[in-house]
Amino acid sequence: MNSGVQETTLEINLASLTHNYTYLKKQVQPGVKLLGVVKASAYGSSAAQLALHLEKIGVDYFAVAYSSEGVALREAGVQTPILVFHPQPINFEEIIAHNLEPSLYSLRILSLFKTLAIQNQLTSYPVHLKFNTGINRIGFATSETDEVITALNETETLKVVSVFSHLAASEDLKENAYTLKQINLFKTIASNIIKGIGYQPILHQANTSGILNYPEAHFDMVRSGIGLYGFGNESKFDKNLKPIASLKSIISQIHSLQPGDSLGYNRGFVATKLTRSATIPIGHADGIGRIYGHKKGYVIINEQRAYILGIVCMDMIMVDVTEIDCQEGDEVVIFDESYPANILAEHAGTISYELITSMATRIKRVFVEK
Ligand SMILES: *Cc1c(COP(=O)(O)O)cnc(C)c1O
Repeated sequence: MNSGVQETTLEINLASLTHNYTYLKKQVQPGVKLLGVVKASAYGSSAAQLALHLEKIGVDYFAVAYSSEGVALREAGVQTPILVFHPQPINFEEIIAHNLEPSLYSLRILSLFKTLAIQNQLTSYPVHLKFNTGINRIGFATSETDEVITALNETETLKVVSVFSHLAASEDLKENAYTLKQINLFKTIASNIIKGIGYQPILHQANTSGILNYPEAHFDMVRSGIGLYGFGNESKFDKNLKPIASLKSIISQIHSLQPGDSLGYNRGFVATKLTRSATIPIGHADGIGRIYGHKKGYVIINEQRAYILGIVCMDMIMVDVTEIDCQEGDEVVIFDESYPANILAEHAGTISYELITSMATRIKRVFVEK
């Protein structure tokens, strides 16, 4: 079948993004804000285009992981407040210069940022306090609450826009008791902070699966990748969220292999019968890891499964099309709405997030709205 694509292309459907945004907004009470998490190039797509689209449809806040990602959004014209989850002291100047808002997650970071803000004679600079309630990854300890309050109250230089925390297992209902403990601890911390600083910041704790599974964790704002690429583990997620990315490519060449002929590096596949293979321009440098080789993964050609034969090359894979009616130039689906990324990812023992965030920048991004 002749395809729309002329080369390997990641197609991002902005209509599906709007759909997911609207759907998630409906899961929270009116007035609860939605923060769009657009870290890691918006989970592998393109942070600027997605952020500008989300800004247009009314998203309240953005978050990125690293400071450089926030700078790129500002340079693309994003006006909405941007929280930087995981800044380092070396980023503070750039954060202030681009009107980004740091997450302060340790007494060291708080003290260094405060010192710099005082040196710059800033007042009420927006910051976010990240507390660890059980993921043990990043965040102030509960026992540090008083010290945090004291440090904040010493000057007028910082303004706490939000207090937040992150759930460790919101997608796993077997860990319900642990999650409820995290939520209760967060409530205690938040009320102590509010008492200590004398005003009410935005409170937030839920990520996407927290939105779906724990209404009691919605507080004033929720954080979400907006179901960008579906789903850590499809069975645990709401089917109403649509995968927004499709990865398509094209058959470059077809080879006929006689019994005994081999395919690819180290003769990774040896034909035992007459075999037809199709070569596709995508490889491990594009994010299709070597683990998918030797028939672990497959792609879809003319609605049929074509298994990857032999070793995945840097820029190419070869797939089995012996039983598939196809020709050079035909479209190849690596994942799309009906063959979602999480299914392919499962063949490698991973999740869609890892698969999609590793899509190389050399893969063309195309935005559609349909
Ligand atoms: C990545 C991240 C999120 C978004 O999580 P999703 O499950 O993809 O919605 C939310 N909060 C924090 C702190 C994160 O690091």
